[in-house]
Amino acid sequence: MSKHYHYIFAGAGMAALSILCRMMDDPFFENKEILLVDADDKKKNDRTWSFWESQPGYFENLVYRKWHKARIVDKDWARSFDIAPYTYKSIRAVDFYQQVFSRIKQHDNIRFLTAEITEIQDGENMACVKTNTGSYSADMVLDSVVKPGDLRTINTVPLLYQHFKGYFLEIDKPMADDTITFMDFSIPQDNTMQFMYVLPFNKHRCLVEHTYFSQRFVSEDTYDQRLTKYCNQHLGVDNWRIEEVEKGVIPMTTASLKNPQSKRVAYIGTKGGYTKASSGYTFYFVQKEASNALSQIKQGMIPHRKPSRFKTYDALLLRVLAADEQFGHKLFSGLFKTRSPELVFTFLNEESSLWQDLRITTSSPALPFLRSLMAEIGYQLKEKLSFSKEEYPNPWLTSNL
Ligand SMILES: Cc1cc2nc3c(=O)[nH]c(=O)nc-3n(C[C@H](O)[C@H](O)[C@H](O)COP(=O)(O)OP(=O)(O)OC[C@H]3O[C@@H](n4cnc5c(N)ncnc54)[C@H](O)[C@@H]3O)c2cc1C
Repeated sequence: MSKHYHYIFAGAGMAALSILCRMMDDPFFENKEILLVDADDKKKNDRTWSFWESQPGYFENLVYRKWHKARIVDKDWARSFDIAPYTYKSIRAVDFYQQVFSRIKQHDNIRFLTAEITEIQDGENMACVKTNTGSYSADMVLDSVVKPGDLRTINTVPLLYQHFKGYFLEIDKPMADDTITFMDFSIPQDNTMQFMYVLPFNKHRCLVEHTYFSQRFVSEDTYDQRLTKYCNQHLGVDNWRIEEVEKGVIPMTTASLKNPQSKRVAYIGTKGGYTKASSGYTFYFVQKEASNALSQIKQGMIPHRKPSRFKTYDALLLRVLAADEQFGHKLFSGLFKTRSPELVFTFLNEESSLWQDLRITTSSPALPFLRSLMAEIGYQLKEKLSFSKEEYPNPWLTSNL
């Protein structure tokens, strides 16, 4: 076994590096030995994170592009609105990695290792990270490595996927305006929930992304055909050059991946439940969670997310979606049609008051929530009384992902 560390980050992605930045700000960690292990060297722009917030954020200097207006489109209506007090922002992962790694270079107590993690062992007195180049031990391991096998065990709560493919395009015809298309549901829904998302970076450059909230996956051809058709028919563009392609699958579940018996291994990021289960947005929630995680780590505790009523709402929505994927379209479209966009964005950021929650959950598009609430209460009771658990279809068991 090689050197012992105070902390090992298993996976050096967005959550790990966000928490590490707070550690580098805090004198408490100055003399702590920290190891980051990742299979990737984190030099590529492997994704772009978008989110909305009303104040400048911790990584404000990295914001690549900001927007103040958004639109929602459906077959028979469209609505454009100002998103004040929010600003919609995008950060390129490569800028984020570069900034964090240049800070790491100034800290002798932090080391980065490029290696494939094969196993993480929890223990009473220390945890151990095994890699293809050696094994490393630590007082605490912060684990953000999600493997399909982690999700295979989830069959008592619904599990859907936000899966998407997007083109970063250079286009011949100028974009009509500087408004983001948050969700365009006017494309065929095919008994599921799917929409187009458009971010105009400037007049001749944009991201066009085709997104599904579903238990099923689609072929590359399906994405490509739909994206091409959308660019032609909806954006009115004939000629374009694809500069980059973005693809992803984000698990949508409220299941906890945390092992309650864990002594020395903490799950962070998507693995720690930081991803908003009903939308897939993660960046903003990681930034909110990072300081909470840091204060728990300083107290020697295994960081964990505090329970929140928003998790129950997400569980409800996923329960409804698992039974009827088309409901997602009706809900999101209906909420933006009947409620103020500010209220919807506040609710989705988990910053609404109880009164505001009530305005959302009692709106007509959200009525199936109430039926789902009854099912959820039943499920929670069954859990408490340890009755047999209801099984939900789990696509990880049948997909090749
Ligand atoms: C293409 C894409 C676009 C997204 N866009 C948005 C967005 O716009 N807004 C938003 O809020 N969220 C977005 N998300 C969701 C979410 O924010 C990201 O997935 C985010 O990176 C999650 O942070 P994380 O730290 O949990 O995981 P990651 O950032 O993925 O970090 C996990 C790390 O573990 C490493 N790893 C995995 N397996 C191993 C192994 N065996 N050994 C060693 N290292 C390993 C990976 O290389 C990675 O660096 C997007 C996701 C994707 C995939």
